[in-house]
Amino acid sequence: MGRASSPKPVTYVEKEKMKTGLRKQFKKILADPKVFYLGHVTIGQNQALTLNDLKAMGFGAIVVTAGAQGTKKLGIEGEDTVGVYHAKDVVYHYNSLPPFSQRTFEIGRRVAIISMGYVMVDIANWLLNLKKIDQVVVVARRGPIEKAYDDNEFEYIEQYLDNADMKQEIERIAPHLAAVGQNVDEILKKFVKEGDPAEGRRLTFRYLCSPTKVIANEQGRVAALEAEDNEMILQDGRTVAKGTGKTRRVEVDCVIYAIGDQVDASLGLPFSRGAFVTNPEKLPGDPSPAAYQPYDPETKTVLDGIFVAGWSRNASVGLVGVAKQDAERGMKVINAYLANKAGLSSGEMEEKIEALIETLHKKGASVVTKEDIELLEGAEQEQARARKTWDFKYISDDKMLEVIAARKAAR
Ligand SMILES: Cc1cc2nc3c(=O)[nH]c(=O)nc-3n(C[C@H](O)[C@H](O)[C@H](O)COP(=O)(O)OP(=O)(O)OC[C@H]3O[C@@H](n4cnc5c(N)ncnc54)[C@H](O)[C@@H]3O)c2cc1C
Repeated sequence: MGRASSPKPVTYVEKEKMKTGLRKQFKKILADPKVFYLGHVTIGQNQALTLNDLKAMGFGAIVVTAGAQGTKKLGIEGEDTVGVYHAKDVVYHYNSLPPFSQRTFEIGRRVAIISMGYVMVDIANWLLNLKKIDQVVVVARRGPIEKAYDDNEFEYIEQYLDNADMKQEIERIAPHLAAVGQNVDEILKKFVKEGDPAEGRRLTFRYLCSPTKVIANEQGRVAALEAEDNEMILQDGRTVAKGTGKTRRVEVDCVIYAIGDQVDASLGLPFSRGAFVTNPEKLPGDPSPAAYQPYDPETKTVLDGIFVAGWSRNASVGLVGVAKQDAERGMKVINAYLANKAGLSSGEMEEKIEALIETLHKKGASVVTKEDIELLEGAEQEQARARKTWDFKYISDDKMLEVIAARKAAR
């Protein structure tokens, strides 16, 4: 093996550029006087505000763009063991999003990440570059070619790749790759590089395996992951994993599922298999405009005046750009729906919003306004400057509300 490659400095330039760009867009939208913003309000069953409350207020349309806040499980034994987490919760944690920012994650030293998309790379980056753990083991159902991350993203963690282990792993699964017509030599050339893992921290892959059990130790914490070996078959021209019945033990002390998310059923829309049910009718267009309309399968009716878009319509599909494009397509459908309806005057709209704020206050909810956000941002920027860091975020809702109240009182 060659010399240890020197670690690439952790740069979040691309991510930060993206976040700054998104914040600018949000600010531009919020600055429009026709946009009212009531933040820190959760909509759903058993919440201060339900979808039915909103409907009863007589808005022309309600668009649900609440993302996919529910988590998916594999349904295997031991999933509730301490040390098994969902990628979304972990990412929210290190992105300082309450309440995950305050939750304790028993990360350990050897972490299995299930699945190999961009979320896996993001988490491996955090674990190896920032948490400086000993090993990340990526567990994937299929082979190297079926990766769902970009090579550019992988550069942030590539210096930790255990090339000797990768070579061995590809050679182990070589007969299965060849069986579906994949060129093993080319795969070895692409995926095995020179050099030892930087700073002794290792990134390894276990391909062609599906988790079957989380094995707990006597303290109820993750001791290992059991996974079934797969072979690959071709189905309609694409590779599909098929279990062989043979299992292996992967020595890890934490397991993170990066297998995608599902929508939050408690929001109150018809829900089936992790998604909100939408109108099955096929109208001209791709996606069909009907796909933005929630649908009650029991009464076989569309929920008039309610729409879904982004990850609430299509959970875990694509990056931010894809969700934005979906929202733009959805807005065309919604604008067409609104075209023949009498709109609300700005006075009527203001009245409705005031009534809504009053109702929320009566129910004890703390509503955050556009002005509050500016006060909070100002306070966070001052903290960042004082701490000489590029960014600072308060990590609990209570603290944020306290800072906003203090800023208001000081005026
Ligand atoms: C772990 C992870 C990492 C990711 N990393 C990247 C990345 O690096 N780059 C990238 O481009 N994309 C990334 N994505 C994808 C990106 O997050 C999505 O494409 C995008 O956020 C979807 O946009 P959305 O507006 O549909 O939903 P979201 O962005 O999730 O927005 C939903 C909003 O609704 C609010 N909300 C939720 N439930 C309720 C409720 N009941 N009541 C009121 N409000 C509610 C939420 O607080 C949130 O503000 C990542 C996704 C995950 C899960």
